[in-house]
Amino acid sequence: MRRRIATRIRLIRRHRSYTSQELAKLLGVHSRSIQVWHAAGLQPIDERSKPYLFKGEVVKAFLRKLRKKCSCSLGPGQFYCPRCKSARFSRPEIVSLGPTKREIGGGKMIVSWTGICIVCGCKLNRFAVVSCEDCTDGKATMEGQ
Ligand SMILES: [Zn+2]
Repeated sequence: MRRRIATRIRLIRRHRSYTSQELAKLLGVHSRSIQVWHAAGLQPIDERSKPYLFKGEVVKAFLRKLRKKCSCSLGPGQFYCPRCKSARFSRPEIVSLGPTKREIGGGKMIVSWTGICIVCGCKLNRFAVVSCEDCTDGKATMEGQ
């Protein structure tokens, strides 16, 4: 869902104003999401007039800030834990190469690793691009990513 919003942010015009319904339709989210964003700090043009109108550039800035807050950079062998909301290592005995093995051309393929969070026990997934040779030889390791 986050990726979908990320690509749709570009559809918002800076100098246009939008109602909650228009924003929800444009971004492909429920209108309740716009209300949640308003409660979390998305400022309408005028708080007193309803329905609220949101300026395009304010919405763009808010959503970019929201996305930045939800992201973190991963080190070698780390996963993003959705429960801890940070980079975590998996229990080493549980890290395994997942079922996703899709060739993307140029001798590379997408693989997924699965694991279990060392802190909270939540299921973890991580996708990476590796060369096909490494993958068939079994040399593709999480540490190389
Ligand atoms: Zn965790």
